[in-house]
Amino acid sequence: MELWYTEKQTPNYGITAKVKETLYTATTPFQELAVIDTVEFGRMLVLDGMVQTTIRDEFVYHEMIAHPALTAHPNPKKVAVIGGGDGGVIREVLKHSTVEKAVLVEIDEEVILASKKFLPEIAGALDDPRVEVLVTDGIQHIRDTKNEYDVILVDSTEPVGAAVGLFSESFYANIYEALTDDGIMVAQTESPLFNRDLIQKSFSGIKKSFPITWLYLASVFTYPSGMWSFTMGSKKVCPLQVERQDIPDLDTKYYNNAVHYGAFQLPSFVADLVKR
Ligand code: SAM
Repeated sequence: MELWYTEKQTPNYGITAKVKETLYTATTPFQELAVIDTVEFGRMLVLDGMVQTTIRDEFVYHEMIAHPALTAHPNPKKVAVIGGGDGGVIREVLKHSTVEKAVLVEIDEEVILASKKFLPEIAGALDDPRVEVLVTDGIQHIRDTKNEYDVILVDSTEPVGAAVGLFSESFYANIYEALTDDGIMVAQTESPLFNRDLIQKSFSGIKKSFPITWLYLASVFTYPSGMWSFTMGSKKVCPLQVERQDIPDLDTKYYNNAVHYGAFQLPSFVADLVKR
């Protein structure tokens, strides 16, 4: 018998993958969690019926939320990842030799535990001595933190449940306060095809606090529409003013010297969303 998993990415459209095995399911205090093994994409973490990450394509998202900001920042030492309990963003952050401390702020401990058990390639970095794991609400943590982090990366679920506030203007204003003088933030801001309103709202919310605001793109194959946006807010540094020779030679599969600049070049229908 064949078993197939479908994520309804909109009420009228979805992606479907042939399942080898359902490895784990749980109802946590925050969400429905599943880890399934698929033929095409390998093991997948699914929260509330939405694919969060897969073994085959996780590198794109995790590299692209982390490296543009960490490269643009002149000396990132202390970094926070809000959400991101699978550990993939932390793994990428630790590739930067300047980083002394990476703090994961994840509300749902069961995401961390399931990722460590079933997705060790992604979550393994959480055991690095430079990592501190806080199981708490990222909104509260950021509200209580001032002038602390050089880079803050918001690796959130879609804006439902506990993640709604991670897309709010007041959260972005609090991130500004939690950052050091030349701090940079990046938030994942969903699909330019399916989430146009969200991108416009997040971009203008970030722009209200940050003098330098950029949208950039990457192709995340299993996310809705395959084209994914990230929004960067920076206090001082423009990511495009980084000198080519200053871009570190990292062990990456998607991010590289050319992609650092190219990701910020937007197709017209995306540029229209964030016209200055
Ligand atoms: N890369 C994924 C994506 O874009 O679909 C996101 C992956 S990561 C697993 C998202 C995490 O954000 C989830 O584990 C969820 O529990 C966490 N999260 C949601 N709301 C949160 C909050 N208010 N504070 C901290 N973590 C939160």
